[in-house]
Amino acid sequence: MTEQDRIHSLVARFGASADRIVVPSGDDAAVVRADGAVSVTSIDAVVEGVHFELPAWPLEAVGRKAVAAALSDLAAMGASAGEVYVAAGLPKELSEAGFDALCDGIAAAAEECGAGVAGGDLSSAGELWLSVTVVGYAATDDAVVTRAGAQPGDAIVVTGALGGSARAIELIAAGTDSADPRLMKQFAPIPRFAAGAALAAHGATAMIDISDGLARDAGQVGDASGVQLTIELASVPLAAGIEDAAFAAASGEEYELLATLPQGQVEFAKSAVAETGTTLTVIGQVTEGTGAELLNVDGARLEIRGFDHFD
Ligand SMILES: [Mg+2]
Repeated sequence: MTEQDRIHSLVARFGASADRIVVPSGDDAAVVRADGAVSVTSIDAVVEGVHFELPAWPLEAVGRKAVAAALSDLAAMGASAGEVYVAAGLPKELSEAGFDALCDGIAAAAEECGAGVAGGDLSSAGELWLSVTVVGYAATDDAVVTRAGAQPGDAIVVTGALGGSARAIELIAAGTDSADPRLMKQFAPIPRFAAGAALAAHGATAMIDISDGLARDAGQVGDASGVQLTIELASVPLAAGIEDAAFAAASGEEYELLATLPQGQVEFAKSAVAETGTTLTVIGQVTEGTGAELLNVDGARLEIRGFDHFD
């Protein structure tokens, strides 16, 4: 398949994937009817050998993960999903069936969030990589929740349960069958758009999606807000089969949302998030200080590093 053949097949597949897209992929640039007062843009890349290994990863999962991980950053702003743009480096040995599976994953992750694939670029490459740009929308700039607004006294909340992603990485490395549902936290992560919107609507003062682990991402919110996030490990919700809260707090690529909000909003936010099909758990309180502190059951401070690409 030539590059032009591949592009034609992509245009045919993604061309009219959302009503907002006025001029789809295939022209020099996409034209999109914006859906709100502000656009919210993020970019995320996945690289073979760094974020995934072949053939342990099905190619469909590679496409899904790349798009879902990028979209999760929009959910963490309280924005809606708009357009997805995918640049890809394809090894020469990637088969047509493999390319199709990759596209299936990209399409599925975008569709599940209501996003349209509006463009992209293909190159040959030594190893497989995808760079995904996502654009979302919010009604006003006040509707967007950054990392920077947490206030002392706010409750710290997290959606879903943690630890399943790190366990999935262990299981993939151990050669577990790719259909095992425990691997889906890695192979088919779910951006929390509805929960993010519910938290934004209920006065979330700061929000982040958990990509580098609860401990590290809580530190990001504390640093950005000029406060300290004090988290009680015993309160951290654990995924099925996970018993070690420290393991869960270091688990990256969870794509759950960590937010801070006024105490008076907690019960309303819990109900609203429950209606989106997941849970909201209070795990601590914002205090004066900087960064994040994780407290053991006995009140002792715990050092959890989380994930850093350049450690
Ligand atoms: Mg993020």
